[in-house]
Amino acid sequence: METILLLAHTEPDGSLAKPALECLTAALALGGPLTVGLVGARVEAAASQIAGCGAARFLAVTGEPFSQPRYSTDAAAAEALCRAAGAAIVMAPSTSRWARALPGVAYRLGGRVDTHATNVAAENGAPVVTRWFYRQRMEAVLSRRDRPWLILLDSGCFAPWNEPSGPAGTAAVEPVTVAAPETRTTVTGIQAPQSDEQTIRPDARLLFVAGAGWTKKQFDGAVHAAEAETLILGFLRAAQASLGGSKSLVDLSGEGEAVLRFMTHLNQVGQTGSTPRHPQGLSTCCHGEEPHVVGWRFVNQRRAINLDANCGWARGKADVLYVADAFEVMRHLNRLLAA
Ligand SMILES: Cc1cc2nc3c(=O)[nH]c(=O)nc-3n(C[C@H](O)[C@H](O)[C@H](O)COP(=O)(O)OP(=O)(O)OC[C@H]3O[C@@H](n4cnc5c(N)ncnc54)[C@H](O)[C@@H]3O)c2cc1C
Repeated sequence: METILLLAHTEPDGSLAKPALECLTAALALGGPLTVGLVGARVEAAASQIAGCGAARFLAVTGEPFSQPRYSTDAAAAEALCRAAGAAIVMAPSTSRWARALPGVAYRLGGRVDTHATNVAAENGAPVVTRWFYRQRMEAVLSRRDRPWLILLDSGCFAPWNEPSGPAGTAAVEPVTVAAPETRTTVTGIQAPQSDEQTIRPDARLLFVAGAGWTKKQFDGAVHAAEAETLILGFLRAAQASLGGSKSLVDLSGEGEAVLRFMTHLNQVGQTGSTPRHPQGLSTCCHGEEPHVVGWRFVNQRRAINLDANCGWARGKADVLYVADAFEVMRHLNRLLAA
């Protein structure tokens, strides 16, 4: 196998996050000589975290300018690490930082980049990369002659690397010096919603999908959007589930109709939305049309609640369809969870 460089940036606490550890598992599975390239304000903790992984070298670009996600500094650091390692294959987790910076780095190096890889495997001493095309409808296995070949690996496809039991090791880290490029952006702080207000939770066991039915007239001829909000948010908090939405529901806000205020286009699942990976999914008040269900490709067990026994889910798209009123079911479920 050819030489491999694994690129990883540290988190604010100096450690490596799960996507980086998953990418390490993938890089090790390829079997080539491995160099780890770390980027961050300080990288000692990250290097110790994976000291026992069997990498031949640990390189690092460190310093305050490299602590923040920013194209110019991330690209400069990655480019310097690629040149210092001289590896034919460069692997990195598909974090927002690397997804933004690495295509430009591939261009600077005269190499090629592939994004959204879901698997890498060794074939005749070189890697082959699996990725999906046309919104997850076709799966392709690619090989390339161009080098360096940069590969951005999607998270959730490999188990995170685990330190073998025993005392934590230390790695000898070789510094790579990079003059930080001039930047116009100064990061003064981060404003983010409280973590329990986040509705998109990629690591949750359950994906809860809300469809447009939640905002439609119900048996009594009235719309119950306020109760829908309470039921959905109550369930999400109790089950720590991730929230998805159908396109019809997330589009409603632009049409001046009754809306769920916490639902945005970021929640949309489907052909023109996201394709999340959760072990289980529960769809509510959503018809289960193909452009929506195609986003459920990687959800292992699918259940749906719909009043309509003839909805799309009934046609082989769900493992279990509850023909029931989702308001009633969720009220009951929330009572059970509260108890
Ligand atoms: C090019 C293209 C791309 C698209 N991409 C996407 C995409 O990425 N994602 C996506 O979601 N859609 C996408 N769509 C739209 C998709 O075809 C559907 O129109 C959409 O998914 C329908 O949303 P829905 O099921 O929430 O709403 P509706 O079709 O209005 O269904 C509402 C459902 O709620 C049920 N219901 C109502 N009240 C209750 C209740 N009390 N209890 C239980 N059930 C109840 C009804 O029986 C009904 O089945 C795309 C379409 C096109 C043409």
